[in-house]
Amino acid sequence: MAADTIEAVVQADREFILQTYARPDVVFARGEGVYLYDTEGQPYLDFVAGIAVNALGYGDPDVTQVIAAQSAQLIHVSNLYHTAPAGKLARMLVESSPAFDKVFFSNSGTEAVEGAIKFARRHARTHFGEGKTTIVAFDGSFHGRTMGAVAVTAREKYREPFMPVMPGVRFASFNDIAALEAAMGDDVCAVILEPIQGEGGLRVADDAFLTAARALCDQYHALLVFDEIQCGMGRTGTLWAHTSSGVKPDMMTVAKPLAAGLPIGAVLLNQRIADSIHVGDHGTTFGGNPLATAVAGVVFRKVNAPDFLAHVRQISSYLDESLQDLAADMPDAILELRGRGLMRGIRISGAAGPAREAAYAQKLLVATAGDDVIRLLPPLVIDTQHVDAAIITLREVLR
Ligand SMILES: *Cc1c(COP(=O)(O)O)cnc(C)c1O
Repeated sequence: MAADTIEAVVQADREFILQTYARPDVVFARGEGVYLYDTEGQPYLDFVAGIAVNALGYGDPDVTQVIAAQSAQLIHVSNLYHTAPAGKLARMLVESSPAFDKVFFSNSGTEAVEGAIKFARRHARTHFGEGKTTIVAFDGSFHGRTMGAVAVTAREKYREPFMPVMPGVRFASFNDIAALEAAMGDDVCAVILEPIQGEGGLRVADDAFLTAARALCDQYHALLVFDEIQCGMGRTGTLWAHTSSGVKPDMMTVAKPLAAGLPIGAVLLNQRIADSIHVGDHGTTFGGNPLATAVAGVVFRKVNAPDFLAHVRQISSYLDESLQDLAADMPDAILELRGRGLMRGIRISGAAGPAREAAYAQKLLVATAGDDVIRLLPPLVIDTQHVDAAIITLREVLR
């Protein structure tokens, strides 16, 4: 077999992989801590973390250990049979979150959102008959790429080429209580929102907006669904991003970091919704398999530990102070700081794409959100030295 030179890898990608991504000409070979290493052994400081997936960074010994042990024991049997890890993980998720009583496991974020949409419609049909099927979503939202999830995703570019997507969606303006009020009606079965918008630009939902959404959902007998696929699992220094608001959703979707890199998704829901779902109503071949759920169990225990979350809060305030200093020093380049915890956006005066490329050239990986926001999603295990290094690079890149 030919050696995995950069040229050979990039060439195979261009020739045989459907080109739905524009990737830089680098090939990552391994990761350690919060650094990725390319095939030449060059380190990259990673403030993307596989898009908020690699919460524990790379090479966490507990994660590699449970993958080895569980894969040697049992990887998959399908949902036709019981296995122990899924139930243990579901119990942990439910016991840590007073709003929820049951869990449905999927393999990705978009499938979790599909599940939530189906459960909302099933619940509405059970209690209110046909016709209560509308989902209210918001501008700036991102919920995934499948036909239901993409239908509640705001960006036209993601929906238009695939029309007709799932019908029955109304969009309202994010953080705008009057707009949400206007979008509500007896036909609404659910309102779905990200407590902190990810792809859409790192906008944080106001507590007042979440409280109003809860009240409007109650008034119209609609379900309130929080998509915490990107903002959840410790990223804001609490287990879930909505925890600090005091608002209780009826359902929540979780995915990206849940198994620290293995594919998994989950819908958390309350008993009222669970009572309207019956055997055979929904399913998945891989969802809840023993490998992914055993790994997620280990990840969840680590992330949900008080010391771990305290570290996230500490390093978040250090990052926040550092970003504020940076923004104060370059008011022409940095227009606004957004986000919360270790999910931060820097709105800049130019386009974000070239800034991301310039950071990459200096071996700092950052993501973008929308056209003009640099998105930072570091592993939750970063330290002050990593923040300092990232800020030095950002200062040079944005100068
Ligand atoms: C990434 C993401 C999704 C979709 O998850 P996939 O695993 O890519 O299908 C849905 N919602 C939010 C908020 C996300 O960030």
